[in-house]
Amino acid sequence: TVGAVALDSRGNLAAATSTGGMTNKKAGRIGDSPIIGAGTYAANGVAAVSATGLGEQFIRHAVSHSIIAAMDYGKMTLREACDDVVHKRLNEGDGGVIALNAEGEVYMPYNSEGMFRASITSNSN
Ligand code: ASP
Repeated sequence: TVGAVALDSRGNLAAATSTGGMTNKKAGRIGDSPIIGAGTYAANGVAAVSATGLGEQFIRHAVSHSIIAAMDYGKMTLREACDDVVHKRLNEGDGGVIALNAEGEVYMPYNSEGMFRASITSNSN
């Protein structure tokens, strides 16, 4: 899975997620990546989230939307919301997220053995 989250100079937040699915993927399986609210979600003024891991779990917990709802309605910080969903709702080993809030703060927690990730900050227009 390859995901990206971005914040532009006008305050627009965006998330995108692409995946080849799980190893030995089943025919007809969709996974969480293309499901808005599961593997991908963004809301201006709040955050953008892209997820990787065991898709069924990310669908079940509506992970990306849950993080943003916890921030928006629940008034949690980016870190609190991500930690709540990734470390308390998902099971150990399920995966993780990359997340970015409206202030440009980046947080990329995971509960799996590893998760390749990187962050770039640019001030250019
Ligand atoms: N989340 C993806 C899926 O379930 C797999 C992955 O992130 O590697 O299809």
